[in-house]
Amino acid sequence: MTDKKTFRISEKRRILLVEDDIVCQEMMKASIGETYSVVIAETGEEALEVIRAQHETLSMVLLDLNLPGITGIDVLSRIKSDPASSRLPVIVMTSDHEAEVECLTLGAIDFIPKPYPASKVILARILRTVELSEDRETLRLTERDQLTGLYNKEFFYRYAAQLDLYHKDAPVDAIVFDVNHFHTINDRFGKARGNEVLKRIAVNATDYVNEAGGIVCRSGADTFLLYCRHIDDHEALLARLSAGLDDVGFGKNRVRLRMGVYVDADKTIDIERRFDRAKMAADTARDHLTAPVGFFDHSMREAEILEEQLIDDFKAAISQKQFAVFFQPKFDVRRDEPVLASAEALVRWKHPKLGMVSPGVFIPLFEKNGLIQELDHYVWAQTAAHIKAWKDRLKITLPVSVNVSRIDLYDPELTERFLDIAKKNKISTEDLLLEITESAYTEKTDFIIKTVKDLRRLGFRIEMDDFGSGYSSLSMLSNMPIDALKLDMQFIRSAFSQRKDTRLLEAMIGLARSFGVPTIAEGVETAEQYSNLKAMGCDLIQGYYFSRPLPADEFEEFIVKNLKKNLKTEGVLC
Ligand code: C2E
Ligand code: CA
Ligand code: CA
Repeated sequence: MTDKKTFRISEKRRILLVEDDIVCQEMMKASIGETYSVVIAETGEEALEVIRAQHETLSMVLLDLNLPGITGIDVLSRIKSDPASSRLPVIVMTSDHEAEVECLTLGAIDFIPKPYPASKVILARILRTVELSEDRETLRLTERDQLTGLYNKEFFYRYAAQLDLYHKDAPVDAIVFDVNHFHTINDRFGKARGNEVLKRIAVNATDYVNEAGGIVCRSGADTFLLYCRHIDDHEALLARLSAGLDDVGFGKNRVRLRMGVYVDADKTIDIERRFDRAKMAADTARDHLTAPVGFFDHSMREAEILEEQLIDDFKAAISQKQFAVFFQPKFDVRRDEPVLASAEALVRWKHPKLGMVSPGVFIPLFEKNGLIQELDHYVWAQTAAHIKAWKDRLKITLPVSVNVSRIDLYDPELTERFLDIAKKNKISTEDLLLEITESAYTEKTDFIIKTVKDLRRLGFRIEMDDFGSGYSSLSMLSNMPIDALKLDMQFIRSAFSQRKDTRLLEAMIGLARSFGVPTIAEGVETAEQYSNLKAMGCDLIQGYYFSRPLPADEFEEFIVKNLKKNLKTEGVLC
């Protein structure tokens, strides 16, 4: 039978004793051998070899300074300069008091004088050192990002606040930097290569803060935050952070960083907001290969003030019904004549002071801070009420789609909420179509798919919005629980741009059809686009060509006009 013991990790902590003198070895073993498992190295070279191979299972190094070959001081400095072993606590053993300062500077944690003190004293010192370093290691693991060894965001913010306390008057820069198109590196070269890039950046950033002061963290996938003393030349800093990235080896596809700087950050505002400002600045540098550094400036401050105002005004806007739901028709174009088939509900904000505010401004803002949920609930309820009113007044059923934001999908009561809306307004679940943007499917995919399946089971129909803007592939569609595919408007734009090339569009429509999924083209503005899309086999069309989004009363007239044209009155999606 196999000896079980050999499969177990030794329960005793392991200590490396670097000592060439046999008598000293024996004395030390006698002092600590009962408590610790002692590994012996008689030369510096041997010690470094053991550390290289076993640093993960060693708890400490006891280092004699007086060794044959490379000296104890050399061994100490090599242990401390190698990131793999620098965390190992080293206690130096020497009779030379002069060497103490040098060893402490190099990173030794304590001393044991020679000749040795009483065994009790030695053991007590070692116990304390091991314990302290293990506490530190536990802290290190919770405050650090595992891949790069940099702080995580929470601890970073905490330590940034401490830096402010110690250096109240020093001007500082809040800096965000990340990798241009990092996902393509991951997609094309694999995650391991992506990780190499991140590690290299972390080493460069650590070098910088070790030299210039400040702190750095990895705050997300490929995003880093740097809080440091103000500098003038951020391009040079960016070059330094990018050092060696080309060596990671992607051929011609060079890895480039971009950076956003909030210069001389205002320390009276929240630390997280200081970095929001740096992030805003970074967004202006996106893809600007010639100007990869963006700065927080006055215009961004204006945008920020507007955002603050919109957030402040939100509650009143809901209670005073400043939000209006507009409707834009979708036409079924499969037959000779287009047939009004459904509509999309699009929200508008009639702001008492600012006039009409575009959803392009407030939707992304409310998505960021969560207010979007309340707004969406309002829009869904209003939409259901309109569907019911048209049913009653016009005796028709026109299904209408509402936009469902990514965070709505994480609401555990989402299905209940939609059922409730349908019930309260006495409409069928089939009358409400739900537009879910493609990118919502990319995170927590299984969870989202389950939610979507639940909704479909209840009768709601799902349209995948903005298809083609994210990373889903057409082949994934066969497993996706969706009822229609809304092509991203950008596809229509580029297909009909000056260099007209409709091949991609055609291929997508064809493939979607082969999976049995109808396609909707939105943003269709001209007769040429309309007839081309129809010829390609697109099923539904939405856009200014038919109508702009209209206020509810005008849209009701639009429906009536279409009814009068004697078109199909029962709106059906597919
Ligand atoms: P989306 O869902 O992709 O909506 C389509 C956008 O294209 C709408 O912009 C619509 O007015 C516009 N559009 C329609 N036809 C044409 C056309 O022929 N040409 C051009 N150039 N544009 C056209 P809008 O209403 O400004 O909405 C922008 C985005 O805001 C929407 O994009 C949607 O993502 C979001 N949104 C709008 N209402 C809501 C809402 O109630 N809830 C949520 N969560 N998002 C909403
Ligand atoms: Ca939409
Ligand atoms: Ca869309």
